[in-house]
Amino acid sequence: MTRSAPRLMLVAPFLLVVAAMTGAVWHYGYRQALDELSRRGEADLALVLGGLVSDLQRYRDQAVALADHPSLTVLTHASGPRDRRVATRLLIAAADRTGAGALYFADRDGRLLAGTALRPEGFAGAPAFRRALDGALGTAHGSDGAGGRYFEFAAPAFGADGRVSGAVVAVAPAENVEFGWRGMSTAVFLVDVGGSVFLSNRSELQGWGKVPGAPELVPPGGQPIRFGQSRSGPHEIWQIELGPYLPRRAVQVAQDLPRIGMTGAALVDVGPARRLAALQAAAVAVLLLFFGALLLMAQERRHALARANAQLERRVADRTETLTRTNRALQREIRERQEAEAALKRAQAELVQAGKLSALGKMSAGISHELNQPLMAIRQLAANGGAFLKRGAPDSAAENLARIDEMAHRMSRIIRNLRAFVRNENEPMGRVDMIKVVEVALEMTTERLRKDGVAVDWHAPPGPVLVCGGEVRLGQVLVNLITNAADAMAESAERRLSITLEDGAPVRVAVRDTGPGIEEPEKIFDPFYTTKDVGGEGMGLGLSISYGLVQSFGGRISGANTGAGAEFTVELDPWAEERVA
Ligand code: ADP
Repeated sequence: MTRSAPRLMLVAPFLLVVAAMTGAVWHYGYRQALDELSRRGEADLALVLGGLVSDLQRYRDQAVALADHPSLTVLTHASGPRDRRVATRLLIAAADRTGAGALYFADRDGRLLAGTALRPEGFAGAPAFRRALDGALGTAHGSDGAGGRYFEFAAPAFGADGRVSGAVVAVAPAENVEFGWRGMSTAVFLVDVGGSVFLSNRSELQGWGKVPGAPELVPPGGQPIRFGQSRSGPHEIWQIELGPYLPRRAVQVAQDLPRIGMTGAALVDVGPARRLAALQAAAVAVLLLFFGALLLMAQERRHALARANAQLERRVADRTETLTRTNRALQREIRERQEAEAALKRAQAELVQAGKLSALGKMSAGISHELNQPLMAIRQLAANGGAFLKRGAPDSAAENLARIDEMAHRMSRIIRNLRAFVRNENEPMGRVDMIKVVEVALEMTTERLRKDGVAVDWHAPPGPVLVCGGEVRLGQVLVNLITNAADAMAESAERRLSITLEDGAPVRVAVRDTGPGIEEPEKIFDPFYTTKDVGGEGMGLGLSISYGLVQSFGGRISGANTGAGAEFTVELDPWAEERVA
């Protein structure tokens, strides 16, 4: 689903709500404004019609007042031209006072007896006059055929016998009334009982009639036209197209005028009401949309935050998982390494043990020979010493004893070395004089070297050369290097073993031979690498053990070919007093 879909789901109903509320506000506002408009229209209409009725009242009252005037009633009896002149003057004077169009007095047959104007056709057919003959006040309106419209009022004149003897007829031209309405902004009109517009301040409406019960208007002497008529609550709305001086859409207010038998009506333009309603609705819509937009923005922000948060949490979770995995792998690796280290240590320990045994084996022959020789010498010297004593040569016997003592010392040294060699594991690190170590190693291998005819080239430096290490273990390393050199030179014509010791940092001991050299220098420190008979002396452990021992003192051992044989170098840190402290 795209991101815009949920937004649309939110926005569409909101817009619908806004539209509904705007519509409702418009409707309500329009109704309110219509109420106000019709109230105003009704008030205007009442004012206008009130004026009209009181205007007409004047003419009617005048007719009534003149009806029993003796100057007029006398005319219904035998009367002369003088009476008629008097009556006519009376009527003219009265008409001048009220501004009435015309005033007439007629007998009951409708014949004109006196008047402000001529009326040759008489009044026999005039509806107002006929009503007056019945003894009531007659009211009528009509047109004179030349476009002039008028109101007509007739008041009965009673004779001495109490019967109607004639009537005064007052004619008021409608233009007089209409003239006062002209300036009004509201279209006002009077509709007669026939449904035709008799009077209006809009010439466009003049003469129009409404077809009863049908939504049509009939123009004077033309085809009916449709006009829209609808209701909005109690109000009747007209939609008409009758020129620029009439509203296209108007509310129609009406008032009955029973006195003149007409209905007064006004058309009030609903434009302002619509504009006001539209304004209110627009204001509400703008407000709602504004708040909606704010809400939407807030919602968007909330969503964006939630999305960012979720993304962050996902990333953290991913990272945590990766870390956990890495951690687990690391722990496994550590475990494996620890196990491998333990296995290595075990193997190393076993190798050391095996190497020691092998070295012991190698040495035992030399040592037994070494011990045997002084023993034999001691026996010989002791026997000779006894013989010297018997012969009375105590000096020679003492010399023998001294040699015996020297021999015993030598033997005990050999034995001590052997024991130390076996127990070397617990030997502490300490100050060791390398001169002594070399000499002890040479001493332990003297027999072997002598037997092989190896010339030893060794010149001890003047002072002690002190290093930090284990004396016995260093001796073991040197014995191993010397015997290896002797082994290598077994087949050589020249057999020379050179040992040099250089003081310095580091202290360097070099064991050089004149053998054939090393076959594979890169392999010699590998455990079990040997070029010697496997069944015989070779086990391939001597150098690898030596390597481990030197390393344990912080030094290094290396082997290389010189061109005339092999050279093994042991480098060790010189002794430093502060190390012990
Ligand atoms: P081993 O003496 O039992 O063979 P080492 O570890 O002492 O075991 O020696 C390993 C190998 O290194 C020897 O078999 C030999 O091939 C070689 N090697 C050691 N010393 C010398 C030397 N001085 N000259 C030539 N080769 C040597």
